[in-house]
Amino acid sequence: MSRFLYKSYSTTVNVGLGRSPVEMANRKTPLVFEVLAECETTKARTGRMTLVHHHVDTPVFMPVGTQGTLKGLLPQQLEQLDCQIILGNTYHLGNRPGADILRKAGGLHKFMNWKRALLTDSGGFQMVSLLELAEITEEGVKFKSPYNESECMLTPEHSIQIQNAIGADIIMQLDDVVKSTLTGQRVEEAMHRTIRWVDRCLSAHERPDEQSIFPIVQGGLDPELRSECARQLIKRDVNGYAVGGLSGGESKDDFWRMVHLSTNILPKNKPRYLMGVGFAVDLIVCSALGIDMYDCVFPTRTARFGCALVKTGQLSLRQARYKKDSRPIDESCECSTCKTYTRAYLHQIATVETVSCHLLTVHNIAFQMRLMRDIRHSIKEQRFPKFIQDYMSTVYPNKDYPTWIINALGTVNVTLL
Ligand SMILES: [Zn+2]
Repeated sequence: MSRFLYKSYSTTVNVGLGRSPVEMANRKTPLVFEVLAECETTKARTGRMTLVHHHVDTPVFMPVGTQGTLKGLLPQQLEQLDCQIILGNTYHLGNRPGADILRKAGGLHKFMNWKRALLTDSGGFQMVSLLELAEITEEGVKFKSPYNESECMLTPEHSIQIQNAIGADIIMQLDDVVKSTLTGQRVEEAMHRTIRWVDRCLSAHERPDEQSIFPIVQGGLDPELRSECARQLIKRDVNGYAVGGLSGGESKDDFWRMVHLSTNILPKNKPRYLMGVGFAVDLIVCSALGIDMYDCVFPTRTARFGCALVKTGQLSLRQARYKKDSRPIDESCECSTCKTYTRAYLHQIATVETVSCHLLTVHNIAFQMRLMRDIRHSIKEQRFPKFIQDYMSTVYPNKDYPTWIINALGTVNVTLL
């Protein structure tokens, strides 16, 4: 064994258990991240992740598909919308169709006919938020099956087994999730348990050549705990990191400070994924703080309630004022809904006909994809600070900028006009 191999092995902690140093060194990497440009003013960067199924340009927004489908859209339509990666929920997929059927089908890509990149969550968050009876112990998350009342346990190992069967390009560790507003001993316990569980996840991982596990930085709103968690996680040999446990009702000032602190510690050469964030201004601010990936159910969920995303916020198309409005949702939008239908037509069918969910979802995904494309281009062309100023002045034409936005952007040297 050469010294080099030994050295590269010894810098990792607790990973690749059961694999020899040579096997570790010869391991194919399922994720290559290249930073293509860094903003000279903020912490933003634009890059490209090369995954097994597709490349992904960052910063990226990932739409959420629950049962292996994005409500109201087909995989081909997502491709047409320039979507490179979507998110699948392990909790739902593990229940139905279940790991065995997915494994036999050759994974979720084949099962749902999606050829591009996929990310799956661990299932833990859904379980804790959906099931009142979920109980977290050191072993895992104990819960009553929503189908037959039997008692089940989602362990870190089990979560990875299901995610190995689903076959997504990026998979998430099972973490100990607590409400973002919780304080005290339980937050510290959850942070330490999350670190112990990432090692169990890495040991259980059976497809490290094809799938990357992302550990999740936890620690609530406590700067010390969150920093400690990030410092521990970066010792693991992984291809990217997530920042979790935010966007759950905490103050926006707490929110951005935790993001800023996490990206200061996480390595620059690996992608950073902020979980559960999808509002346009949040995407812009957090990209300035150095985040590369986002997901959120908001754009698709709000479409089901008859709301269309626009630069200034949302149009609630059920409102009577759209009854005779012959304009499209957004004249500058290139999506098929805006090219074809008027606000008056969408008002007529919004929330009544399933086709309205489809039409508004197309527009809302197009909106998110275009926003992220604009962010990427402006970073590449070294005009991201100007992009931020222009966008914020459109959203807040009276310049009544929220304090948290002023503070967050001030930290990365951007002053709003
Ligand atoms: Zn549109």
